Amino acid sequence: MPTVTLRFYEELNDFLPSPWRKRDIERQIQPGESLKHLIEAMGVPHTEVEVVLVNGDSVGLDQQLQGGERISVYPLFESLDVTPLLRLRERPLRTPKFVTDAHLGKLARYLRLVGFDTLFFNDIGDQRLVEISVSERRILLTRDRALLMRRTITHGRYVHAIEPWLQLAEVVERLDLAGQIRPFSRCMVCNGSIVAAQKDLIEEELPDQVICQHDQFWRCRDCQKIYWQGSHYSNLLKSIAGLVADNRQAGDVES
Ligand SMILES: [Zn+2]
Repeated sequence: MPTVTLRFYEELNDFLPSPWRKRDIERQIQPGESLKHLIEAMGVPHTEVEVVLVNGDSVGLDQQLQGGERISVYPLFESLDVTPLLRLRERPLRTPKFVTDAHLGKLARYLRLVGFDTLFFNDIGDQRLVEISVSERRILLTRDRALLMRRTITHGRYVHAIEPWLQLAEVVERLDLAGQIRPFSRCMVCNGSIVAAQKDLIEEELPDQVICQHDQFWRCRDCQKIYWQGSHYSNLLKSIAGLVADNRQAGDVES
């Protein structure tokens, strides 16, 4: 049977069993097998792959293999300049929108907190999630890689981190969103738009201590929830900024 040689780069290695990580892998193939089939059979969802080089040429995932090819597989990494190469999908929209699966509710709230339009449903089937992602052009965030292997999904991201605020830092960093953070523009509870609220008009709805300590308030247009900039919020923002900076310094790009 013909064979090919593959190598996966950066965080794509997280999807592989340890003997395959960061090294050349020899794999038997069926003649005519597509790149997408081969890569997903090894455990890597197609949504995570951004650029594939076959014998040095940038190709699409529908490329058929004959044997003897040398294949390099690179992840979606918005801050990496791959302009000269064929990207496998169009770049995410300028202002990306998200839908998370039912296990990532806290991440959804954090994304809203920093201003990103994010849908989250407690009780929703996988098929419906995929439909929403495709029809509303929302990036599907999940830790379920089988979900990302569905053929119709075009914009999805596997979330590697376990802790919700680390998940937020990961999404912000990998999609290069730090410059698009807009605090107090979106409601954590319902994803509605938030607008500045006049203090004297909402005073009676708030505890005295909050009224004394804060002057700026915001209100959700949809569910009417009132927001102010508490210590939890500023700590969170500092943590995200620190994490993104740390990750950039570490520069885990392989040579
Ligand atoms: Zn709301």
